[in-house]
Amino acid sequence: MTGNRTLTMIKPEAVKKNFTGPILNKIAEAGFHIVAMKMTRLSKAQAEAFYAVHKGKDFYENLTDFMSSGPIVAAILEKENAIETYRKLIGSTDPKDAEEGTIRKLFAESKSYNAVHGSDSDENARIESDFFFSETERYS
Ligand code: ATP
Ligand code: MG
Repeated sequence: MTGNRTLTMIKPEAVKKNFTGPILNKIAEAGFHIVAMKMTRLSKAQAEAFYAVHKGKDFYENLTDFMSSGPIVAAILEKENAIETYRKLIGSTDPKDAEEGTIRKLFAESKSYNAVHGSDSDENARIESDFFFSETERYS
């Protein structure tokens, strides 16, 4: 059982393809409450900071180029057991392996261009939420 908040990003490729609305609809249908939300564009340095845990891996350069290539939508989502429930809703990192009906299966291009991010732990959800949102930008 995890805490009740997670941080998501709708990634540049999905925003560009106008999937923001349909993805937010899936999130709402699944019963998540939106606590905070913004459209913004990460600089290369910000993308590197956000994905610092992957520094040194072969996909890090591509990942941070991609994540700074256009606007994203970041949001804090609330629901019981948020981390696990949201990662189930988005599906496997590679959309080829993702279950039918999951956000990545429906909207992701590939493993590298995979439509959305979801936090992987309560601690990272807190760190990632603080990365994007001040206290006054959260409405619970
Ligand atoms: P995210 O953190 O974006 O929610 P995830 O937790 O499912 O995705 P991670 O292992 O944290 O997956 O990887 C972060 C991102 O790096 C993935 O979303 C994916 O775009 C990219 N990535 C991970 N592994 C690979 C890989 N082997 N090849 C290419 N890209 C990869
Ligand atoms: Mg991850």
